[in-house]
Formats: sequence, structure tokens, C-alpha cells
Amino acid sequence: MIGARKKKAVRLQIIEALGGRCMWPGGCDVTDPDMLQVDHVNGGGGRERKLFSFRGQAVGASGVGSDHYNMSGNRSSDYYKHILGRVLEGSKDYQILCANHNSKKYVIDRCCKRKENRGKVPCPCAA
Ligand SMILES: [Zn+2]
Ligand SMILES: [Zn+2]
Repeated sequence: MIGARKKKAVRLQIIEALGGRCMWPGGCDVTDPDMLQVDHVNGGGGRERKLFSFRGQAVGASGVGSDHYNMSGNRSSDYYKHILGRVLEGSKDYQILCANHNSKKYVIDRCCKRKENRGKVPCPCAA
């Protein structure tokens, strides 16, 4: 399990570099790394992961909601290293969200992209 330990270390470095806590706009106090996830701000995770042949396929046709980093296999550590490199370069493409807020972001994204909600102000999810 040396590989797994290495992977966690890189993940923790990313979390640390991004402030070590959930960055939910409304505020959130979650700082437990086990409850934090690396999130691609613009939902580009699917495309990016494809670059790394994550699971050999893109997850989620729309790319939305594919930012849940349940990665396995050797490729995932390369992927985390890639993200860490980008973060240390000052990339603003990544943020840290707790598992709950990552789920919430997914729900909001899905809601706002629904045809009947497009252009609706406020969107039902803003309640
Ligand atoms: Zn949170
Ligand atoms: Zn919405």
C-alpha cells in the first residue's frame, strides 16, 4: 500500500496549498482532510481526467458532477501530481470543498442547467 500512502500525501499537499478548509462561498468550518475533496472550479474535471485516462473514460456526459475524485489505479496519483503542480503555479482552477458542499454544488449545477430553469431568476436552487 505504499502507492496509496503516496497518493494521500499528494492529496493532502493540494488541500494544504488551497487553504486546508472547505471554500464554500457561504462559509464552512470543515477542515478534516478525510471530509474534504479537491474540486475543479469550472467543472472541467471530466475533460481533464480524460487526459489522464481516468478509468479509461470520462465520467458523466455533461462533465457536471464528475468532480468527485474517487480515483483508483496508478493514473490517479499522476493526476493528483498534475493538480498539485497547477495549484503551486497559482492556478485558480481548483478549490477545496467538503463532501457535503461538493454534493450541494452538484445539485445546484444540475438544477441551473435544466432547460426549464435556464434564465430563471432566482433559480429554484437559490432558495
Ligand atoms: Zn463545506
Ligand atoms: Zn439552479
